[in-house]
Amino acid sequence: MAKDKKLVLSGNCNGCGICVTVCPTNTKLSKEEDFDINTAKLAIAVNNGIAFVNYDACIACGLCTRNCPVGTLAMVPV
Ligand code: SF4
Ligand code: SF4
Repeated sequence: MAKDKKLVLSGNCNGCGICVTVCPTNTKLSKEEDFDINTAKLAIAVNNGIAFVNYDACIACGLCTRNCPVGTLAMVPV
């Protein structure tokens, strides 16, 4: 997938974790036999109540932006 867009977060994340569960990159990782939530290179994760993006793993599919209940996530052109 061409990364002509980038996922950005605004400041109103409530840490619900929905984005973490809907992310296809995270789902793929979670199916690996040696999956460890603490060490996996998740594309998006919640840490200390705030979501953060791992741009090395995020494929910029935008799925999480359509599932965030408070509109924190958005895709922007790069
Ligand atoms: S844009 Fe896609 S790959 Fe990136 S964090 Fe969101 S759901 Fe995961
Ligand atoms: S970015 Fe949205 S979906 Fe993800 S944890 Fe924050 S509020 Fe929940």
